[in-house]
Amino acid sequence: MLFEGIVIHRVPYKERDLIVKLLLRNGLLGSFYIYGGQGGGKHHKPTVFEPGSMMKIHVRETKTRSLEGAELMVAQEYTRVWEPAHVRYNIQAFYLICLYFELVLKIAPVQHAGEDQLSGGETEGIFSVVSNALFHLEGSLSKNDFDAPQQLMLFMVKLLFHMGIMPDTDHCGYCRSNLLEATSSTFLPAEGQFACGNCTTGENEKGFLLRVKKGFQTRFQDYAEVMGTNFHEADRLIQYFCHQFHLKPMDLRSYKLLFK
Ligand SMILES: [Zn+2]
Repeated sequence: MLFEGIVIHRVPYKERDLIVKLLLRNGLLGSFYIYGGQGGGKHHKPTVFEPGSMMKIHVRETKTRSLEGAELMVAQEYTRVWEPAHVRYNIQAFYLICLYFELVLKIAPVQHAGEDQLSGGETEGIFSVVSNALFHLEGSLSKNDFDAPQQLMLFMVKLLFHMGIMPDTDHCGYCRSNLLEATSSTFLPAEGQFACGNCTTGENEKGFLLRVKKGFQTRFQDYAEVMGTNFHEADRLIQYFCHQFHLKPMDLRSYKLLFK
C-alpha cells in the first residue's frame, strides 16, 4: 500500500529509527515506523522526515508494529516529494507550522493500519488546507514577503471553514440584523458568533469581521490581499477554534512560543 502525506510529528526511537505521524491526503493521521529514519550511519545521511515534508511511504500490508498501544505501519520504502526548505531558517515560520500541526494532531481522525487510504471523505479538506498553507508559507519566505499574522489568519479561516464551524459573518447572532450595515460588531469566541453594537457592548471589531470575510474569499496564493491583520486577530480565531474542540491554547507548546 502506498501512502502520501505531510510529516506533522516525529519521535526518535531506539538508536536510528523514527516513529512519524503523517497527515495523509485523505485527511487522516497515519503512524509509521521507519527503520533507520533518523539518518546518520556511515555516510551521515540527514533525515528526510523534516516536519512539513511531503512523503511517499510504501507499506507491506502484512507488516505492522504495536508500540505503547499505538498501531504502526512499517515503512518498506519511502521518498520525499517536497520539503519546506526555507521554514527551518525562520524561527517564527517554524513555530507557525508547529502550531498548524499541533492543531491538526488534536482534530484529525486516525488512519487504521491495514485499511486502504480512502478518498473523498469529509476530512480531505484538512489536508488541502494544511498543504496549501505550507506551500504558500514557504513561497512567501522565498519571495521575502512572509507575514506571520497574515499567514496564520488565512490558515485559521480556511481550517474553520473546512471543519464546518465558520462563524456567520453576515448576521448578528442575536437579532439577525445585517452586520455590514451595523455601526459596530463584536466577535464572541465562546459563542462562535458576531454580534451588532445594539446587542453587545464589546470592542468594535468591524475591521476584523471584514478581514475574516476577506480571508474566506481569498485563495492561499493570494495571501498578500489579506492586509492589516495582526496576532491579536488571529488569536481571536484560535480562541474560538479551541473553544469548539475543548482545547486550551496555553496547552499548545507552539502557541506559547508564538504568542509570548
Ligand atoms: Zn444584534
